Amino acid sequence: MSTLRFQALKETLNRKPVKIDETERRSDLFGKNVFNETVMRQFLTKEAYQSVMDANKNGLKISRVVADHISTGMKEWAISKGATHYTHWFQPLTGATAEKHDAFFETIGDGLAIEKFGGSQLVQQEPDASSFPHGGIRNTFEARGYTAWDPTSPAFIYGTTLCIPTVFVSYTGEALDYKTPLLRALQSVDKAATDVAKYFDKNVTKVTATLGWEQEYFLIDSALAASRPDLQLSGRTLLGHSPAKGQQLDDHYFGSIPSRVLAYMRDLEIECMYLGIPVKTRHNEVAPNQFELAPIFEEANLAVDHNSLLMDVMDKVAERHNFKVLFHEKPFAGINGSGKHNNWSLATDTGVNLLGPGSTPMKNLQFLTFFINTIKAVHDHEELLRATIASASNDHRLGANEAPPAIISAFIGSQLTEVLDELEKVTDGKLSPQEKTELKLNVVGKIPDVLLDNTDRNRTSPFAFTGNKFEFRAVGSQANCANPMTVLNTIVAKQLTDFKSRVDELIKSKKMKKDDAIFNILREYIKDSKKIRFEGDGYGDAWQEEAAKRGLSNNKTTPTALKAQISQKTIALFEEMGVMNKKEVEARHEIELEEYAMRIQIEGRILGDIARNHVIPTGIKYQNILLENVRGLKEIFEKDFKKHSKEQLELITEISDHIENINSDINDMIEERKKANKIEDADKKAHAYCDNVKPYFEKIRYHCDKLELVVDDEIWPLTKYRELLFTR
Ligand code: ADP
Ligand code: MG
Repeated sequence: MSTLRFQALKETLNRKPVKIDETERRSDLFGKNVFNETVMRQFLTKEAYQSVMDANKNGLKISRVVADHISTGMKEWAISKGATHYTHWFQPLTGATAEKHDAFFETIGDGLAIEKFGGSQLVQQEPDASSFPHGGIRNTFEARGYTAWDPTSPAFIYGTTLCIPTVFVSYTGEALDYKTPLLRALQSVDKAATDVAKYFDKNVTKVTATLGWEQEYFLIDSALAASRPDLQLSGRTLLGHSPAKGQQLDDHYFGSIPSRVLAYMRDLEIECMYLGIPVKTRHNEVAPNQFELAPIFEEANLAVDHNSLLMDVMDKVAERHNFKVLFHEKPFAGINGSGKHNNWSLATDTGVNLLGPGSTPMKNLQFLTFFINTIKAVHDHEELLRATIASASNDHRLGANEAPPAIISAFIGSQLTEVLDELEKVTDGKLSPQEKTELKLNVVGKIPDVLLDNTDRNRTSPFAFTGNKFEFRAVGSQANCANPMTVLNTIVAKQLTDFKSRVDELIKSKKMKKDDAIFNILREYIKDSKKIRFEGDGYGDAWQEEAAKRGLSNNKTTPTALKAQISQKTIALFEEMGVMNKKEVEARHEIELEEYAMRIQIEGRILGDIARNHVIPTGIKYQNILLENVRGLKEIFEKDFKKHSKEQLELITEISDHIENINSDINDMIEERKKANKIEDADKKAHAYCDNVKPYFEKIRYHCDKLELVVDDEIWPLTKYRELLFTR
């Protein structure tokens, strides 16, 4: 009997929901462990408080002297809440968060000790972090990497550690993390969008990008997860026959949440409240054991930090509940995968959502300006957007008939399509007063009404307008949102910058009125970006053909998709917007290619091991049982034995067939891996893994899964899909 599997099942069936005592109101808990404005006013001097606020709102530098004041206040607060350590908390390019804890405790001679945390420890650290990916940026002579405080994301206490969000840069100033380029992109979109927003309201001085992510995940009992080496090591099942019942009945979607899971969610939400993560909704997703959590949207940098933090917290809370969280985009074949929709918009410091239609024609012209410019940006940089969501794991999802295709397109709904169609008809050049009135009354003026009734939702679109924001739906569940947010904000920044210069030029050289000029350029953009708009079924084959005709990219694998990251156009874009230089762009590209090859390599190894050490021996074991049985039958029935052992003999041959195939496929795969490993060039190596190694996964899996179907359930060593997905 395969002990691990059955032990795990027994353990799982005996579990009870963890009891959650919730005595305080959530609103009272919110932000309790965050060094937020209220706390700062209490623990900081007026000057120190003002300094943080200025840094936060206007990007002003904090002086060393003031930093000392701030660190003192921060330390007092942290210690009053039971913290003993502090850490710079950052997001290296591994995709995980990193921290190195130091104690506040310090000796001062004479056997005495104090709690110390100075301004210099707050502002900058030099962690020994030489093993984080750097893509060649940190050569040995300049191997140091620095973390530097990001005052725009508040410090928080997790457990007994004060965590200070920081950027991570090299000695020479190049970004080694996700946050640095994101902050630069947010700065550039702020500038570009503020300039454009001033056409409509002179009082706007700052525009903030907003992000509301929706985190999908699977929750599996920890014992069951531990019984599967593939889940443990690669985050997904590399084999396993699909269960008789999957998600066909859709009976899990939005259904009542299982009680153990509900206890987990409540525990998690309470933790989130303390940390100031404004989680709001929770529900079952489409697949069995799949769930979703979404917060109220926030400023993008903070939202990205909160999502990274959330993923850590989810793991930790899961331990208390004997669950393992699967963040992988496709943990189970044949069942929906997980994504992380990135809802995005732009908000002014006057409190206006620039992608929210307003109540007057002028407000709507503002809405249309930002709306159309975003579509144009997506049109111009669709391939780069595709690259930002590329990963070995997301490849399983994109284009797999349940998630947006690998083709980027924008969905806006039928009513807005009509509005754009009308606008497209605007005459070239100056508008007559009559035309303008007509336009304002019948096109622009109608927007609020149409959007109110606009219930269009297209779940097959990778980039959909949903009433007052765009939803970038193709982002992977495991991904750090910083990457897609960096790119989206950068391309919109570039687009708005170009728009402004075009409009200004028309105003100046053609003496056009401001709104005439805006209408003219928007009309041109509507025409130019038409091919990116798609209202139909993104999952269908027809769209693949249609998109090819339109000349849209359809990069189905990560190595192919990543190429757009280092095109001349991309490098020029990032350099012009001050987001990344060539060296940084190329380093990232290399890191992602290497990571891709590594992931496929690891999966190949795990699959080879499981197939050889678990599946083949089990097949043989069962075959021996059958052989024994046939021998017995022969002894008793003599000549007639064939009649009585027909099924057994067929199975014996079938098992041999599968074993032979598994064996030879593993050997071939290993050969291909060896070849791929010899390749130096990161791009070629990634392609070799993608094109020559990965195809064996399906082949090997096919025969293993067939064996699972015929082998006696009692001796099958790997926990089955139905057990992973339906044991509660
Ligand atoms: P859905 O119908 O897609 O579930 P919701 O209105 O519930 O849409 O919003 C989904 C997510 O979008 C939430 O995380 C929400 O906070 C976020 N969101 C709403 N408005 C904005 C906005 N202006 N900017 C960014 N995110 C937003
Ligand atoms: Mg959504």
